Amino acid sequence: MSTAKPLTLYNSLTREAAPFRPIDPDMVRLYSCGPTVYSAAHLGNLRAYVFTDTLRRTLNWKGYATTHVVNITDVGHLTSDADAGDDKMELAAQAAGETAWEVAARYTALFKADLKALNVLDPSIWSVATHHIQDMIAFARAIEKHGAAYEIAGGLYFDTSKVPDYGFLARAAPEGPEVGRIGEVQGKRQPHDFAIWRRSPPDERRQMEWQSPWGPGAPGWHLECSVMSMKYLGRRFDIHTGGIDHREIHHVNEIAQNQAFTCSADTGANWWMHNNFLVDRTGKMSKSKGGVATLGALVARGVHPLAYRLLCLSAHYRSELEFSLDAVSAALTRLKRLVGTVAKAAPADAAIDGWAAEQRFSRGAALDVFRDQSECELPPAAADHVDRFDAALADDLNTPVALTVLDAMLADRRLDARAKRRLLASFDAALGLDLLRTARADLSLRPETASLDAGAVEALLGNRQAARAAKDFAAADAARDRLGAAGVEIMDGDTVRWEWRPALTD
Ligand code: AMP
Ligand code: ZN
Repeated sequence: MSTAKPLTLYNSLTREAAPFRPIDPDMVRLYSCGPTVYSAAHLGNLRAYVFTDTLRRTLNWKGYATTHVVNITDVGHLTSDADAGDDKMELAAQAAGETAWEVAARYTALFKADLKALNVLDPSIWSVATHHIQDMIAFARAIEKHGAAYEIAGGLYFDTSKVPDYGFLARAAPEGPEVGRIGEVQGKRQPHDFAIWRRSPPDERRQMEWQSPWGPGAPGWHLECSVMSMKYLGRRFDIHTGGIDHREIHHVNEIAQNQAFTCSADTGANWWMHNNFLVDRTGKMSKSKGGVATLGALVARGVHPLAYRLLCLSAHYRSELEFSLDAVSAALTRLKRLVGTVAKAAPADAAIDGWAAEQRFSRGAALDVFRDQSECELPPAAADHVDRFDAALADDLNTPVALTVLDAMLADRRLDARAKRRLLASFDAALGLDLLRTARADLSLRPETASLDAGAVEALLGNRQAARAAKDFAAADAARDRLGAAGVEIMDGDTVRWEWRPALTD
């Protein structure tokens, strides 16, 4: 007899795991903070979306349909999360000798291509920040009308004293280092207060700038996620995700805005979920450190993107995961072995694979495939594997254990090849490793060798950018050709052709 385990998810708000109950029993509404598209996403960023994808696939496994919104931050994210510094998009555009719009288009395309390569499901809605400026202005006006905002020379600021329990999510000491200092912005009332709308300096025109009741300027970073999550998912929705760095500032400020907007203590989402960091030997992987690893860099080394997905799944999403070439190479070896086992123990089967392509996968579907076939009663061993797989996922997405259940199922002599293929189809719908379609040969990528060191690459990139800024396209092309010959890719224009591929640390 097979029994389903209730899905338990860890909630950063309560700091404990609890049984998940959606607002609408059939449709889970979730929002994920998307990337800031001023550069290529690094592998740490991509871990955040493998986590969200696993969450979504697990919800499907448990029988829920999902509406999933992911945003693209193409304006507003400053060089410091604590509301200081310059806009990352504008800075990147200056450095590249391009417009901020060109930079955003290029890295949005690259990000989407990376997600495809990682077999991450497309969200129901991609919401782009700059397409929602009027919504943001209306939301900010409402906050102002509700008395939780004040105008100063720098723009419209959020008054954090006006909401209950400001910072509860972060559990931060009021004087914690993550809080912006009051002296940094003239007229700011509390250290935690943050910009809702940043007015452009009077003598400066920005590329990304809009008219507003508070003068020409741009939205603060936190505003977009409050606005777009509520626009598409309602004032109260189920789950909001992001990396653990967002728990300290960005999501704290989103919650404050949501509360001021709805004039309630409601945080907006019932569950706030955060993935832990991908770290390397020097600490948290971050774009600002430079020389960070991208998916393109892995592929250039002959590592298939799905090996990186497997690496992510082999750790619990709330644990730190240490990245190294050794770790990802071991994941590639494991993936090759797994694909080899599948070919032997559960080979392709047109009827099952056709059925699999049509299924909305759930634990129920995993069991029903046996019931549907009158001649095939559910073998007890199959039910046992389904239960153990279900229990692992239901335990706050325990993918490391789910992977061991998959291995055990494939090795179980009590199951025939067809039963294994059916279970594999269901399990992999939750894991997303594309095991029905991937053959060993697909995983053997030809590594390319980059022959320039990082300094030489930076110098050539600098020359190319200077040449482009001076409209000397022959010189710009020559620099690009030299980089290309050395195995360094750059991306240009709207179509993804080239990607800057920095050296990896071994
Ligand atoms: P960003 O492009 O900086 O806005 O970040 C996109 C997503 O990646 C956010 O959810 C971040 O919290 C997350 N993130 C950033 N760095 C890391 C890291 N090293 N490991 C895991 N997630 C990260
Ligand atoms: Zn966000």
